[in-house]
Amino acid sequence: MSAGFYDFAEQLTQLNQQGLYRRRRVIDGPQGILLRVDGRQVVNFCSNDYLGLANHPEVVAGFKQAADRYGVGSGSAHLICGHSSAHHALEEELAAFTGRARALLFSTGYMANLGVISALVGRNDRVLEDRLNHASLLDGGLLSRAQFKRFRHLDSVDLQAQLLAHTEKTLIVSDGVFSMDGDLADLPALAAMARQHRAGLLIDDAHGFGVLGHKGGGIVEHFGLTAGEVPILMGTLGKAFGTFGAFVAGSDDLIEILIQKARSYVFTTALPAAVAEATRISLRLLQTETWRRDKLQALVARFRAGARQQGLQLMDSISAVQPIVLGDSQQAVSVSQALLRQGFWVSAIRPPTVPAGTARLRVTFSADHEIQNVDALLEALAKVMA
Ligand code: PMP
Repeated sequence: MSAGFYDFAEQLTQLNQQGLYRRRRVIDGPQGILLRVDGRQVVNFCSNDYLGLANHPEVVAGFKQAADRYGVGSGSAHLICGHSSAHHALEEELAAFTGRARALLFSTGYMANLGVISALVGRNDRVLEDRLNHASLLDGGLLSRAQFKRFRHLDSVDLQAQLLAHTEKTLIVSDGVFSMDGDLADLPALAAMARQHRAGLLIDDAHGFGVLGHKGGGIVEHFGLTAGEVPILMGTLGKAFGTFGAFVAGSDDLIEILIQKARSYVFTTALPAAVAEATRISLRLLQTETWRRDKLQALVARFRAGARQQGLQLMDSISAVQPIVLGDSQQAVSVSQALLRQGFWVSAIRPPTVPAGTARLRVTFSADHEIQNVDALLEALAKVMA
């Protein structure tokens, strides 16, 4: 064993000096617009609970009832004895909602992405990924052992050139809504290119599903594409659904292959059935309470207009993710801390989560915010950025 193996202190000091040290804060009580952090109440602008369903009374009640019926733990993997009628019903409802033959639940989005990519491509194949894809998609590409290439962010010309350069079996992979920029993939172009080059197309719509599209169908609905044009759709349940887990939707054969080959599906414990039951209620609310999406859009529009007036550097985003780019990591941290002192929780996002020199505040909105919350945040931003 190397003498210096456990000498982590130096690494930690370095991270601290570079403004890259990450700290957790302990919150007390449920998710919502108001959070109790370190004994103080603050307004939450950093959650992915975009529709405000994480603490919705009907979702919570459904979860409790299901815990009475199914217990807490699922006992084993889906392929052993952990696949309950709750999981099965949710899969069928997700398939129907996304207009696909089948859907498959994964225990987290991270695991879904690792599992899908490494099940679908291997040593002799190729993965082409947008360079700003979520870490789990990039890690899935690396884990697959396929030739792994990134194309420039949203650059279909670069992607086209890479597609023309080789003939291996290729999987194109992209976020739908980019998690740290909030901008949208050019889905019509990706779908057309995948078809033209007979490549696979995997879209991770973690931040679009439930949020975009009149019906909440995410980026696919937003662009008016058919299910057939986006054959492998992944979505997470911990964001707009307000619960936990993830799913992949597609053809019968695709799902069957994933059941056989996705290692992060086969070799892990199934989600608690009560989470699946609670998610069924979220899925219903996501379809019936359309006002949540309308309100979210209105809040985002209000924020963007106010932030523009202040000359803040926004990104090209119509989603619930609204970053303000500052550049320097230390500055992002100090502005985030100053906002917290004013009673607003906005997270500072730094490398390696985002490229060097693009540290930012990542402001996220929820249908539970009110216009007054947005105006108060804008006022606080004006104060701390002055
Ligand atoms: N994909 C994207 C685009 C994400 O932003 C995230 C989570 N932040 C994930 C996948 C992972 O999902 P989960 O949190 O369910 O592991």
